[in-house]
Amino acid sequence: MPDVGPLSRSGPDEIILSPASPGDLCSSLEHRRARRLAQVIVTLGQMGTADQHRAALWLEAWGRSYTLCSPCWDATRQVAQARRPGLVITDTTRTLAR
Ligand SMILES: [Zn+2]
Repeated sequence: MPDVGPLSRSGPDEIILSPASPGDLCSSLEHRRARRLAQVIVTLGQMGTADQHRAALWLEAWGRSYTLCSPCWDATRQVAQARRPGLVITDTTRTLAR
């Protein structure tokens, strides 16, 4: 998945949700090919600790930001919530004026 750069820093077990820019495509390979537009930018914090990598989630994605469409974000959130019970989702899509 392409890295759209560090937009904001997220804490441990935290996912920051920001609004995608108009024209941003979903990071999913399948959806990029279909040119499906992204709705949100998802910035992943540390989903666990590196020395407990069996319980940790998406090590390679920590600190990175991905543009996702709504179904992809829903799927991501469901996996994250199931695997990381302490998960905090900071949603800035509603508080930022466009
Ligand atoms: Zn998608």
